[in-house]
Amino acid sequence: MKFSELSRYLEKLEKTASRNEMTQILAEVLKRAGSDEVGKICYLLLGELLPAYRGVEFNIAEKLMVEILAKAYGARPEAVGRSYQARGDLGDVAYDLAFTHRPRRPGGPSVRAVYDRMLEIAEVSGTGSQDRKIQRFAGLLGELDSRSAKYVARIPVGKLRLGFSDATILDALSVFSSGDKFARKRIEAAYNVIADIGAIAMRVKASGLAGLSRLHAEPGVPIRPSLAERLRTAEEVVKKAGPEVGIEPKLDGFRTQIHVWRAGDGKRVTLFSRNLENTTAMFPEIVVAARRLPVTNAILDGEAIGYNPKTGTFAAFQETAQRKRKYDIEEFAKKIPLSVFVFDLLFLNGESLLVKPFSERRQRLERLFSRTQGGGTIRLAESLTTGDPAVIERELRENVGKGLEGVVVKKLDAPYEAGSRGFHWIKLKATTAALERLRAGEGKHDPKMLDTVDCVVMAAYKGRGKRTAFGVGGFLLGVRGRDERYYSISRLGTGLSDEQFREARERVKKLAVAAEPKEYDVEKNMAPDIWVRPSLVVEILADEISLSERHTAGKPSRTGRAPVRGRKEEWRGYSLRFPRLVRFRDDKNPEDATTVAEIAKMYTAQKP
Ligand code: AMP
Repeated sequence: MKFSELSRYLEKLEKTASRNEMTQILAEVLKRAGSDEVGKICYLLLGELLPAYRGVEFNIAEKLMVEILAKAYGARPEAVGRSYQARGDLGDVAYDLAFTHRPRRPGGPSVRAVYDRMLEIAEVSGTGSQDRKIQRFAGLLGELDSRSAKYVARIPVGKLRLGFSDATILDALSVFSSGDKFARKRIEAAYNVIADIGAIAMRVKASGLAGLSRLHAEPGVPIRPSLAERLRTAEEVVKKAGPEVGIEPKLDGFRTQIHVWRAGDGKRVTLFSRNLENTTAMFPEIVVAARRLPVTNAILDGEAIGYNPKTGTFAAFQETAQRKRKYDIEEFAKKIPLSVFVFDLLFLNGESLLVKPFSERRQRLERLFSRTQGGGTIRLAESLTTGDPAVIERELRENVGKGLEGVVVKKLDAPYEAGSRGFHWIKLKATTAALERLRAGEGKHDPKMLDTVDCVVMAAYKGRGKRTAFGVGGFLLGVRGRDERYYSISRLGTGLSDEQFREARERVKKLAVAAEPKEYDVEKNMAPDIWVRPSLVVEILADEISLSERHTAGKPSRTGRAPVRGRKEEWRGYSLRFPRLVRFRDDKNPEDATTVAEIAKMYTAQKP
């Protein structure tokens, strides 16, 4: 396929907000693509060159792109900068320049050629790399028609947002391979285990759905993490996942998937975060410890957290969080050494354990750790089996007393449910008033709100009063719909400290866009001053979920379902009461934000 043809599809995708239409367009793209290019096209459609876990970064900031455009079209950088100010989008600037300076030419390079050259440019490093990037990128743009230039220029600066994620590509793969969406589950099951959308697309293209059955977990390729459901009380937990369950402390650090395998004479280790980014370089002490594990190959799931083995105390999240950095890594590794508490074993010595029951995976894990010696950087998470709600309560109280978030309950006979949230894992977290009661050792654990909510920052409002100094007075938050759109659920203003305000403002500034993103659904009377593209996820603690006409999350007019609780006066959306910012969730992508369906469940479960 020529890149100019792909760019016509990109334009169609950009113009529609309907997920169905996007799916149809994408299915057509998949059909038209050659089997050697379909994987690359999938990455490009998501604005990437490779899946995030491969760790390829362009290192082309907007300023550099301005220079590239100037060079490509023989313009002055200042003039390009001014157009950027006016247009608010570097792709649009590229389009204008290409349109005036290089009249449209038919044909042009293939998708494959453009892709390969972009990858080469991304991999340029060392002295003088900036100049070489400018030269080569300008050379590439010079060969493209204006529409292609628009999209190619957006990719390195992270602005190719077409309003869908990998989930819609999975639907499109289903439509492409079987004519409807019914094969989605099967395709997604493969994607959960091999979290590389390009590899999945290539397989489906080459051998149809049957080809997926030959895909297995593989050290080096991330598995989508299993996620926990929520319940209110220990009794409910035992009823749902019992008669007996495993109960583990809920550690508050970084989710870490450890992959180890033999390569040549030595062992290779890769670490992946909650959203499957490659975090290997950040945690050198974990890499060293993983290499010492007595395995030929393995995939382990656990939580990395600052830990003092002498006192048995865990670092607060803010301290552990300092390890998320690109610079001074060795220095911080000494200052705040991490331990990974491993709670699951997904692959061991050539065998995938994903379908084995938790009790068996845990036994294998314990056996592995009985043979493991070393500095204690990789440790076995504690786990206790019980069928008694009173023991769960006790564990919850004790863990909260230690400053942990709560407990995670594991269903003993459940497989590892990659990529899905279900009752195979249940988190019991102490929120707000319930937390205070637990700390004080009073009463039973019975919170009003089951969990914190991970919201996407959709927009900002200009400041008034005290906050004026920061230029921003509050934020509009949203949750995610099944249709991959974002629905507003709350405003956040007073629930931030000055420090948090400053940080939020800085982050929002970088994410500002000229117009409301098409995947947002916000009531007109909530119109904010600054729209922000979906990127920043914040964890919010609230007192309860209430109903409000101002917000669109779960609003029957949006969902097309019956009004909440079936009463006419409740034609309202969900809203968070007294929202406070717990933390910025950099380990989550907007696609991982809490969903409207989850909010609906939490609302129903709320104590009357
Ligand atoms: P949440 O982020 O609130 O949905 O809770 C799920 C997260 O808890 C997981 O992604 C892990 O990072 C973390 N976690 C901490 N301890 C455990 C544990 N023992 N089992 C599973 N997840 C855990």
